[in-house]
Amino acid sequence: MALEIVQVPVLSDNYAWLLHDADSDTTVVIDPGDANPLIAAAEARGWTVTQVWNTHWHPDHVAGNATFGVPVTAPAEEAAKIGKVDRGVVEGDTIAIGAHRAQVMRVPGHTQGHVAFHFAEDRVIFTGDTLFAMGCGRLFEGTPTDMYANMQRYAELPDDTTVYCGHEYTQSNGRFAVHVEPDNRAVAERLREVDALRARGEPTVPTTIGRERETNPFFRANSAEQLGERRVLKDSFKG
Ligand code: ZN
Ligand code: FE
Repeated sequence: MALEIVQVPVLSDNYAWLLHDADSDTTVVIDPGDANPLIAAAEARGWTVTQVWNTHWHPDHVAGNATFGVPVTAPAEEAAKIGKVDRGVVEGDTIAIGAHRAQVMRVPGHTQGHVAFHFAEDRVIFTGDTLFAMGCGRLFEGTPTDMYANMQRYAELPDDTTVYCGHEYTQSNGRFAVHVEPDNRAVAERLREVDALRARGEPTVPTTIGRERETNPFFRANSAEQLGERRVLKDSFKG
């Protein structure tokens, strides 16, 4: 059966995710910055959380880990910062929920050990704080070259890959995208759509690789240098 994916807003603007595989009756939590909303969402569906996966060490993605009392899978490079990690993963590892397999991609820049989880057969990727809808994560522990390389790898994925990212930042990202590419009609159109969704209190995530290819100024940057210039501009942009 298809992997079920439930979006759970946590903290002020984070998204954590519940993944459920009905065949094996297993449930994974990704990036529990706060456990309580995830426990409630799982209970409401009669699911029991069996694993926790983290994309990177920041507290807004891991603070709820211990509450679940289940095995934690997280980047090996960041295990010491995360605390109790049962399986440290690196580039190329495969992790699974039931028969659904995800490949671990190391995508440094926001943090050095940051990973993404790519379910190639399911056409789904969890990008944490690297690729956002219309944006990318801040470069706290890496360089524009790192993040540009990540974007190049994401660009190889099929357009119909659904992208689940770690924050609801799309409206401010979209304002910046319009500023950077004022003549890009797809960007302007998407920002109108995002504004309408947010006015109704609705999420703008997930997105797709295809939409990011059309409207994301970091995904669309034509060099590491250009990505770096855009990242610096965005850090102080007040749209
Ligand atoms: Zn982060
Ligand atoms: Fe975050």
